Order: sequence, then C-alpha cells, then structure tokens
Amino acid sequence: MNVTEVQEYVPVIGLEVHAQLLTKTKIFCSCPSTYGAEPNTLVCPVCLGLPGALPVLNREAVSMAILMGLATNCTIAEESVFARKNYFYPDCPKNYQISMFDKPLCADGFIEFELDGETKRVRIERIHLEDDAGKLIHEEDGGSLVDFNRCGVPLIEIVSRPDMHSAEEAGAYLVMLRKILRYLGICSGNMEEGSLRCDVNVSVMPAGSSEFGTKTEIKNLNSFKAVEMGIRYEIERQIEVLKNGGKISQVTNLWDSGAKKLVTMRSKEYAHDYRYFPEPDLLPLEVDDEWIDGIRTKMVELPLERERRFRKEYNLSSYDASVLCSEKKIADYYEELASIAGDPKLSANWMMREVMEELKEQSVSIEQFSLQPERLAGLIRLVKENVVSGSAARDVFKEMVKSNESAEEVVRRLGLEQISGEGELEKMIDEVIAENPREVERYREGKIQLLGFFVGQVMKKSRGKANPKLTGEIIKRKLSG
Ligand code: ADP
Ligand code: ZN
Ligand code: MG
Repeated sequence: MNVTEVQEYVPVIGLEVHAQLLTKTKIFCSCPSTYGAEPNTLVCPVCLGLPGALPVLNREAVSMAILMGLATNCTIAEESVFARKNYFYPDCPKNYQISMFDKPLCADGFIEFELDGETKRVRIERIHLEDDAGKLIHEEDGGSLVDFNRCGVPLIEIVSRPDMHSAEEAGAYLVMLRKILRYLGICSGNMEEGSLRCDVNVSVMPAGSSEFGTKTEIKNLNSFKAVEMGIRYEIERQIEVLKNGGKISQVTNLWDSGAKKLVTMRSKEYAHDYRYFPEPDLLPLEVDDEWIDGIRTKMVELPLERERRFRKEYNLSSYDASVLCSEKKIADYYEELASIAGDPKLSANWMMREVMEELKEQSVSIEQFSLQPERLAGLIRLVKENVVSGSAARDVFKEMVKSNESAEEVVRRLGLEQISGEGELEKMIDEVIAENPREVERYREGKIQLLGFFVGQVMKKSRGKANPKLTGEIIKRKLSG
C-alpha cells in the first residue's frame, strides 16, 4: 500500500476480545475450569446441557468481570441480564450460549495506551459475561472429535468502539488489554492456548467522509502477529475493491495463518439470527455498591500508570519502563530490587540485561527465578561501592544464579575483589611500564591514546581485578612525571 492510498482512505477498526477468566470452576457448574486435562473428563449434566440441568452462577466470575470493568473505566450495571444466544454447532451441546445481550454487566469505558509517544484512547462499548463452547479436534483422516471440557469456562467479551485506525494501533490496544487482564490476575492471556481470542472488524472510508464503510469481520486470529497481518491484509483488499468501483459485502473471514490470507467463512450473521431472549433459568444479576466496593479494594496499579510512574520516579527511558512494567511480577521484582540496592538506574540496567536474558535462557518466570531481589541487590551494592568491576560482577551473577550464595561469598570464593589499593596497583603498573619501553616513549611523545593499552596490560596482569579508573589515573601520573 502506498502513501497516497493511505491518505485517500481511512481504515476503521473495532475489536471483540474474548478472555477466559481464571476461576477455579466453570461459570454455571462446579466442574474445574482447568486447561489441558484429558478430553471430556471435566464435565457434568449442566455443562453438557443435559435436559433438566440448571445453571448456578459463579460469583467469582462476576467479581472478575467487574474488576475488569473498573480497570477499564466502565459503568457497572446495577442489574444485568443473561440471554440465550441460540445456534447449532457440534461444540455446543446446549444448542445455545448463555451470554448477555441488551443489558450487559459493564458498559461505556475506555482503555488508554501509548503509541509512538502519543496517548491513544479507545472506548469500550461493553464487557459482558458468557460461557465458552467446547473444542472440535479435526483429525487428518477427515473425522472430527469433540472435547467438552471447555464448555462452561467463564469468558468475558470486551467489545471496543470502532476507534482504531491502523493495524499498529489495534495491536497496541490488544497488548494493553492483555497487560491489564494479567495485572488483574483474571486471565492468563495465552493466545496460543485460546485463553485470549480476538475477532477484528475492519472497514475503510474515503478520507474526509463522516460515514463509516461496510465492515467485515476476521475470526481465528490467535497471535498478535496474526491480528496485525489480518488487518493490514483486509485494509488493502477493501481499498482495492473500492478503487475498482466494487462494493464491500459484510462477511466473516477466517485468517489462515499458514497461507497468510483470509478465507471467507460465511456471510455476516445478525443479532436477530440468534433469537436472543432472556435466560429463563437465571435471575437478573444484581450488583450492589457493597460488592463493587469490595472488588475495588483488589484494584492494583495498572500498567500504564505504573510505566509513567517508573519513568518519573526512577528516571527510566520509555523503553526500559515499558519492559519493566510488561508484567506485574517483573515490576514488583524491580521495585524491590531498586529499593534494597538503593540505586534505581543501576538496578534497571541489571534487570534489562542480565535478569531478562537469564529468564529467557532458562525459560522461567520471574517468580521461579532462583535469584530473588534481596540477593541480587547485594551484588549491585558491591558494584556501586567498587568492590567488584562490572565485568567481574557478571561472572558473580552467573555463579549466584546456580547457587544460594550471597554476592560477598561468591566474590570471596573466586577472589574477585577489585584491587583498589594504590600500593598493589602501583607495583603492577611499574612492571607494565618496565616491560613496554617503546610504548612509554611514544606516549611521552604525545600519543596519549596509548593510555588504554597500558590500562589493558594492567587489567591482564591483575586478571581483571584492577580498578580501571584508578589504574588509569596512576598511569597518567607516572608517565607525565
Ligand atoms: P454487529 O452488528 O456486527 O454486532 P456492532 O456494532 O455490534 O456490530 O460492532 C461489533 C464490532 O465491530 C465492535 O467492536 C465495533 O467497534 C466494530 N465496528 C462497528 N462498526 C464498524 C465499522 N464500520 N468498521 C469497523 N469496525 C466496526
Ligand atoms: Zn459442569
Ligand atoms: Mg454486536
């Protein structure tokens, strides 16, 4: 797509995101909502939709949905109503989904995030509760199997307003949405496992127009990359159709991640196709202030606020602050580290390099990491006080990861204390001067860049333990005399 085409047409994008809630049990029965169990082992008459079975609402699921509503600045409805959404599909044994229709639990909120240094706000139309369907497993021989374990796992659907205008913006919105869910501890956000699923709606309109174009929907986008690629693809396709005088028809497409293209699944379905009606087996859901206030006490500092505070309070770059706030536990770890070590900048450097690399290498989370903040802070203090050099400290770090030793213990065991005693340093410097008469002569003739060479020789002699700054100063003094 070239620049003129982008200027001629304005893309409009809205996202519908499904998030599985991390409750222990399902939304309308007491079956565990665990992921990855043997197929069809976590089922009962309710979630299998057997005749006569009645749903009982899981209070925890409602609390989690309200928490998300509060985190996204929504109004929480005093009364919301579950509705039957009727459709037939083999993964849905009841032949209807219990969702919410005209009276959702949360409405009229917004999410803010930053993109290229600019704050963007995307409005949230609604957040409602519903039950998940089962999962079809298509065999290579053409047969299909069904696993009902996922039936009845609680979902929230978060519907945005059509406020986004590029694939990058939609991607950044989704990243922030996922961060918020994970900060709140109500969804794992694992897109590969389907805990977080995103359908996108895309239209384009001529620049300057105030009327939205016809939209199409893309389902089955199971990664951030697929979301952005699908949107880009669809924007280009629609612009192409319009430029050739064609019309966009309302369809639902599937993203084929293998072929990297869209496949039309069906013509668009409308609300009336589902014959929504109030769920007769459940009472309207009433939420009072006391319940909401109780949930409010569980609210945490949200990722964007925290990122901004990190930049200000610890004087971190936007990039460092965003990496350190990518997950709540990482941000918690960092703040503890910085406070014990007494040096936010140095602590951030260690987090950004050594800690992050180590987590990646071991593929563990920060909670599983063997080196907890207190011990690492000990090492950072030694660096700060010049007891060990930066390069020796990295060796000490590697040792500490493997053991339970404190930084001091490792430094002592490996004999890595930095040599800062002038007497000891002078002895080595004198040796280096005596061993390199030609370089000394050239230095005295004005080739002062050779200072680095002398420092290097002393570092070598001391096996990396000489304090480089002090060494340089002593050499300068000696050679100028
Ligand atoms: P539907 O009638 O298809 O359910 P909704 O108005 O409920 O449509 O919106 C569904 C999603 O599509 C929302 O996320 C909304 O932001 C988005 N959307 C609505 N209109 C447009 C449009 N013209 N272009 C892109 N996205 C849109
Ligand atoms: Zn069940
Ligand atoms: Mg709709």
